[in-house]
Amino acid sequence: MKVSIIGSGYVGTVSAACFAELGHEVICIDIDEEKVKQINAGIPPIYEEGLKELMKKHAEHHLIATSDYDYAVTNSDVSFICVGTPSGDDGSIDLSIVRAASASLGRAIAKKEGYHIVVVKSTVVPETTEKVVLSTIGEYSGKRAGDDFGIAMNPEFLREGKAIYDFMHPDKIVIGAIDERTSAIVSELYRSLDCEITHTNPKTAEMIKYVNNSFLATKISFSNEIGNICKKLGIDTYEVMQAVGTDFRISKSFLNSGAGFGGSCFPKDVKALISKAKDIGYDPLLLESVIEVNERQPLEMIELLESKLGNGNITGKRIAVLGLAFKNDTDDIRESRSIPVIAELLHLGADITAYDPMASDEMKKVFSNITYHISAAGALKDADACLIMTEWDEFRNLDSEFGLMKNSIVIDGRHMIVPEDIEQDIDYVGLCW
Ligand code: NAD
Repeated sequence: MKVSIIGSGYVGTVSAACFAELGHEVICIDIDEEKVKQINAGIPPIYEEGLKELMKKHAEHHLIATSDYDYAVTNSDVSFICVGTPSGDDGSIDLSIVRAASASLGRAIAKKEGYHIVVVKSTVVPETTEKVVLSTIGEYSGKRAGDDFGIAMNPEFLREGKAIYDFMHPDKIVIGAIDERTSAIVSELYRSLDCEITHTNPKTAEMIKYVNNSFLATKISFSNEIGNICKKLGIDTYEVMQAVGTDFRISKSFLNSGAGFGGSCFPKDVKALISKAKDIGYDPLLLESVIEVNERQPLEMIELLESKLGNGNITGKRIAVLGLAFKNDTDDIRESRSIPVIAELLHLGADITAYDPMASDEMKKVFSNITYHISAAGALKDADACLIMTEWDEFRNLDSEFGLMKNSIVIDGRHMIVPEDIEQDIDYVGLCW
């Protein structure tokens, strides 16, 4: 089939490369000309494991990019909206990019002969697909939904860092369409994947995505709260959760306590659901607590640091921050827990040295006044203390590098170091353990 993908970020680029791999003809649309050039040259605009290889294989043949909506819509049967849906200042979803993309699609659909399908893959709050996307396309195309164009919502559940694998091996595919014709055509795109498809209406599909993310975020904040209590009681929370997770009703994943969740999805999606709930007159106490625990958690790292260095003693101290990405295997720093930690350390007058295997360039755009190193050893040299903020595998192997520090104080926010397993003598503090 012929597919156009609007927005070449994490979701759009991965979807485009994977649809090409599934044998479809793919056209990417982005307003960022630089990204268009990169994709046409077979260069991924973002880092994802396996993406470079897929882009190289399909670019120029089954995968091309343009900023011309008319060309893309005329030459495809289905368009996926994969643009960003950031948080507004009050946490509510900002739909301005979705509206702009829908208007451009509407104008292009106005000029196209024949049926066209628009699928929303961006995460949008319930009712958006029908009340915003469908109506905007109808307004700008002058055509009728159901007769001239179809609309569906097909949420994406991929994990950054493992996005290609997740797209090709989904544990669920949800298609919420306005009619059976649209649902059948969208399903066809996924035919070669071994996964059952949940067919539903658009607002249920939208809600499934929010509930999925909110539940996972709840598991993390719950585990962090339990971890904080366990630490005060001298109980190993990892031993507790290991046992608790064996209950099949709970499962072991997402029970690791630490510095909290970040990324482009969990914080924004939980906040958007809170805001949507309030809009319709419901006070979502549990969801608000999930965010509150998450915002407090990185600051617990600073408290531990202060307890080690002595209150008020961070000023002028050299603090190494290991890990800037919001999680391992990505260069994405959106809502990374290292951001509030670095901001607070700067506020307290610390001199910060930082290292991340992939995300330093991104973090330089946020903090230009800290020193970035190309190795953990570089960041640790002469440091008074270090904070481990991201679960990069290479941090598990740190040992002699800690010997380069002035004081070997290691505050671990991700349960990466087992002090008994390393030769270097360190003053180790785990966040919740
Ligand atoms: P992103 O910010 O990385 O990418 C969005 C892209 O859209 C950018 O390249 C931007 O230039 C482009 N764009 C902006 N306006 C445009 C327009 N009018 N026309 C064409 N292109 C335009 O976003 P992302 O992380 O890929 O997320 C996209 C959506 O998918 C969001 O709703 C997000 O919540 C959801 N989602 C993200 C993930 C994830 O892991 N990142 C997972 C599941 C769902």
